[in-house]
Amino acid sequence: MELIEKPAAWRSFLEERRRDGSRLGFVPTMGALHAGHLSLVAAARERADFVTLSIFVNPLQFGEDSDLALYPRDLAGDLALAEANGVGAVFAPGLAEMYPHGEPATKVEPGPLGALLEGASRPGHFSGVATVLTKLFSLAGACISFFGEKDFQQLAVVRQLVGDLDLPVEVVGCPVVREPDGLALSSRNRRLSARQRRAAPVLYRSLLAGREAAGAGAGRRGIEEAMGATLASEPLVRPDYAVAVDPLTLAPASEAAGGELRLLVAARIGPVRLIDNLAATGPA
Ligand code: AMP
Repeated sequence: MELIEKPAAWRSFLEERRRDGSRLGFVPTMGALHAGHLSLVAAARERADFVTLSIFVNPLQFGEDSDLALYPRDLAGDLALAEANGVGAVFAPGLAEMYPHGEPATKVEPGPLGALLEGASRPGHFSGVATVLTKLFSLAGACISFFGEKDFQQLAVVRQLVGDLDLPVEVVGCPVVREPDGLALSSRNRRLSARQRRAAPVLYRSLLAGREAAGAGAGRRGIEEAMGATLASEPLVRPDYAVAVDPLTLAPASEAAGGELRLLVAARIGPVRLIDNLAATGPA
């Protein structure tokens, strides 16, 4: 497995793989790899001939300095996992390689989709995500890129980005990987105390309660109440939002319309902010 730190070197390395006839699979990450990331690598290996994974903790997408400073990092562990899982090249640039002039003057703004939900709670977050992904896609060139549904709004922002800017990237969404108790895997879970960890599966339980309410014929408000009540049952949890939305626009699901919904929750447990989501079917 190659470890590449320089953007120009990664670009030319991947150009050569393409020239050899390989279809490229690209998995962007912020490292501290877990089975959720590795599910993306497995999907990439199925669809592509050569898999490259990036590891870059992108300061542009962090609001709170403490969240950035405390974000888990484990490059040695990540490289071992990447190699064992069939990654061909890891791109792990330093800050100075990605942003040699500091914060870039040019930003990619995802518009209203990036201002909802996570965007409302974390101003500038999706601009940071869209900007770094535009850089990474520009370096990687034509590829199939794999994203987790865990970050459901991010996936929607990426699809919009690629469509709006005609980037030569096929975007593939992959299902959420969970612990046996339902907690969605996340690098941030490492920062939970044992007590907080025991409380954390309430996010998933609230999604199940919402899905059950939808199945029983509840409208948007009933679904959101069921989710909110479940979150409120856990005193360590400070809910941020618990909503039922249209899976494409992420706008509040219409009370009248049946069909597919996405249930999304965000909550703080101690110092950590967690998100999760689940598909549901609304009343016909
Ligand atoms: P991150 O390193 O948190 O930026 O995540 C990198 C990619 O892994 C993103 O596309 C995430 O959506 C995806 N990912 C993170 N956690 C999970 C999970 N539990 N299941 C599936 N994909 C995930």
